[in-house]
Amino acid sequence: MTLQVSKNVTVVGKVDAPIFDPRAFRLSDEQAAIITRARELGQTIFADRAAAFDRDATFPTENYRDLHRAGLLGISIPKKHGGLGAGYQTYALAAAEIGRYCGATALTWNMHVCSTLWSGPLADDLDMETGMRAEHERRRAVHYKRIVDDGAIYSQPFSEGGAAAAGGAAFGTEAKPVDGGWIVNGKKIFASLAGHADYYGVLCTETAEGEKASRRNTLYLAIPAKTEGVSVVGDWDPLGMRGTVSRTLLFKDVFVPEDAALMPRGVYFQAALRWPHMFLTLSPTYIGLAQASYDFTVRYLRGEVPGMPPVKRRMYPTKQIAVAQMQIKLEQIKAIWFQAVTEACANPSKEQVLRAYAAQYSVMEGANELAALAIRTCGGQSMLKSLPLERIYRDSRCGSLMLPWTAELCLDRIGREALYEPGETDE
Ligand SMILES: Cc1cc2nc3c(=O)[nH]c(=O)nc-3n(C[C@H](O)[C@H](O)[C@H](O)COP(=O)(O)OP(=O)(O)OC[C@H]3O[C@@H](n4cnc5c(N)ncnc54)[C@H](O)[C@@H]3O)c2cc1C
Repeated sequence: MTLQVSKNVTVVGKVDAPIFDPRAFRLSDEQAAIITRARELGQTIFADRAAAFDRDATFPTENYRDLHRAGLLGISIPKKHGGLGAGYQTYALAAAEIGRYCGATALTWNMHVCSTLWSGPLADDLDMETGMRAEHERRRAVHYKRIVDDGAIYSQPFSEGGAAAAGGAAFGTEAKPVDGGWIVNGKKIFASLAGHADYYGVLCTETAEGEKASRRNTLYLAIPAKTEGVSVVGDWDPLGMRGTVSRTLLFKDVFVPEDAALMPRGVYFQAALRWPHMFLTLSPTYIGLAQASYDFTVRYLRGEVPGMPPVKRRMYPTKQIAVAQMQIKLEQIKAIWFQAVTEACANPSKEQVLRAYAAQYSVMEGANELAALAIRTCGGQSMLKSLPLERIYRDSRCGSLMLPWTAELCLDRIGREALYEPGETDE
């Protein structure tokens, strides 16, 4: 089978089937076309580049140029602003396809896309006064134009090493109101795309003189990377997701103009309460990695992995049972995750929120379980650096660490929220 990627590039070989078959999962033709675009880019271009970004822990800049050319930097930007107009579910399914071929590209692309998804379709579901909504509409058009026209890349540095990214306290990064904007001071750790994004979508707390920091006053500001007072520090040599280049960002007396706001005052706080699935967007990458472990195992046991001798190992009953276990696990993860991303909405029911936590937990832990099983089943030669499986194993280990919905915090929330109604105590 051949695949026409662009006017000049044709790829000969086996084209992967979609993770979620459009007919079986009742996707529209428009959704299927966007998701196919992501899968083709991933399989034909990103897959081959992934090893180098991982080895050198360098940012996949070339992939971002391709994402821009393919229109995918603007996947969730409304059509009237030149984007593809994809909603939450379509984005999630497309991101899973990218994650299947390059985890670091999918994870960083998530940070970028969320700046448009949260300020776009998600913000449209939230309450704003008419004047505030008009101002938001004007401001987000500026961000969208930069992305669509110039290929600008946005990131999402939230984490600070304290309780804020887990939703337990106000962000320590402070924005002091001044004429025409704010002065921002603070530090963000694990800031994926550090040194490579054009705008850092920073969550910070607006603090007036003498006022106590409150989560209600969270601001979401797109700070231009080149602004005076912004610096990137520290090294980056982690176990997995090495291409994300998640170094530390410092903000020292950084002036940020009012138009940098990605959401109006109070709207991020409202979103975190009313649109909790916004925190499930780190999971698509790991659905892709789960699928990649399974794909690799089937190919390997059939003797079809490029660059390897065509030795078949599929005739051993133990390997057949392991593949059966992998297939069952993969289908379980896919099923709960598909339901969760399909029902994402404002004001979800308690059952839907618990399901979203359960989906996140299942994907993040399950992706690494599948990778471990894949290595055990395929054997020693399968974990050589010349093959993608060991990278998938390392990348998939990172999923459970992502705040605010780490695997631990999902368990914590499910247990508590299943047993207590809001406001209930044992007093
Ligand atoms: C590859 C990668 C890329 C990342 N990219 C980004 C990014 O772009 N932007 C960004 O903002 N962050 C990013 N992060 C950071 C991530 O979301 C977490 O903030 C970070 O991993 C937390 O570091 P820690 O585990 O040392 O935190 P710690 O605060 O030490 O937490 C350790 C664990 O304790 C538990 N815990 C923490 N707080 C609480 C609490 N209040 N109640 C109960 N349990 C709690 C959680 O399970 C947590 O995982 C990235 C992380 C990785 C691994």
